[in-house]
Amino acid sequence: MHRQTELDMKGTLYVVATPIGNLKDISLRALEILAQADFIAAEDTRHASHLLNHYAISTKLLSLHEHNERSATDKIIALLDAGKTVALISDAGTPAISDPGAYLVAVARRQGIVTVPIPGANAAISALSAAGISDPHFLFYGFLPSKRSSRRQELEAFKDFPHTLVYYEAPHRILECVSDLADILGSKREITIARELSKAFESIHSCALGDVLDWLNADSNRQRGEFVLLISGKPPEMRAAGISDESKRVLALLVAELPLKQAVKLAAAISGEKKNALYAEGLTLKKETD
Ligand code: SAM
Repeated sequence: MHRQTELDMKGTLYVVATPIGNLKDISLRALEILAQADFIAAEDTRHASHLLNHYAISTKLLSLHEHNERSATDKIIALLDAGKTVALISDAGTPAISDPGAYLVAVARRQGIVTVPIPGANAAISALSAAGISDPHFLFYGFLPSKRSSRRQELEAFKDFPHTLVYYEAPHRILECVSDLADILGSKREITIARELSKAFESIHSCALGDVLDWLNADSNRQRGEFVLLISGKPPEMRAAGISDESKRVLALLVAELPLKQAVKLAAAISGEKKNALYAEGLTLKKETD
C-alpha cells in the first residue's frame, strides 16, 4: 500500500492567470481550478468577485496584496500545510508579473509545497505578439520608477541594450515617461504603444520615439487607459562599444569636415580605436547631422 508522505498531505498552490480586460480571456483549466480550490487568494477581493460572479464561482476568498503579503503568506501557508488547495490570482493577467505573489510562491516552494502555474493572459506578451517586431529577443522591465530622476537614471543603464525593451506605464505618467524615453534612448528608436489590450478601445500604434509625444497630445483619449510600451533595441549602427569619449570627440570633429571613410581612418590613427567601432559611431553622427 502507498504510504502517505508529508508531500501528499500538503495542498497545492495554483498560480492562475486571469484576463487583462476581456473576461473571456481565461482558460477552461483556470476556471476549473478556481471553482474547485478551497480558497482563492486575490489581490483585491471586490475586483475578483466581478470575474468570479461572471463565471458563477463561489470559492471562498482571501486577500493577498502588496501591503499584507507577508502576513497573508503565513495564513495561506498554514492552509496549504493543512492540505487545502489555494488558487492565487491578481487583479489582471499573470500573478507575480508586476503584481504581488512572488513572495508567497517562494515560501511555498521552499517548504516543499507543489506550485503549479495555470498559464493565460499577460499584457507584455500580448503586446509583443501583435506588434510585429522581428527581433526575437526582449527584456521585460515592467514599471519604471515613478520618480523622474530615478526613472531617467534607470533608462541610462539600458540605453545601449540591443533588443526590445518592454515597459508598463500608467496613464498619469505616460507623457512624462515617453518624453524621458525619447530623451535618453534617442528620438530615432521605434516605440509601439499597446493600449487597452483586449478592451473596447484597444489600440496598437508604432512610430519613432521622437514623434510619440505629438501623437499622444493630438488626442487626449490616447493618453487614457493601460499601456505597454515596446522600444526597439539599439541597432548595431547606433552602437559604438568601447570608444572613449575623447575618441568620439575627435571623430565628431573629423566627420564634420571629411567623408566618413577618411574621418574614420584618421580617427583610428589618432586614437588607436578599432576602425569598425569608429565607423559605427561615425554612421550615427552622420545620421544625426544629415
Ligand atoms: N500581471 C499583469 C500582467 O500579467 O500583465 C500586469 C499587472 S500590472 C499591475 C498592470 C499594468 O499592466 C498596467 O499598468 C499596464 O501597464 C499593463 N496592462 C495591464 N492590462 C493591460 C491592458 N489591457 N492593456 C495594456 N496594458 C495593460
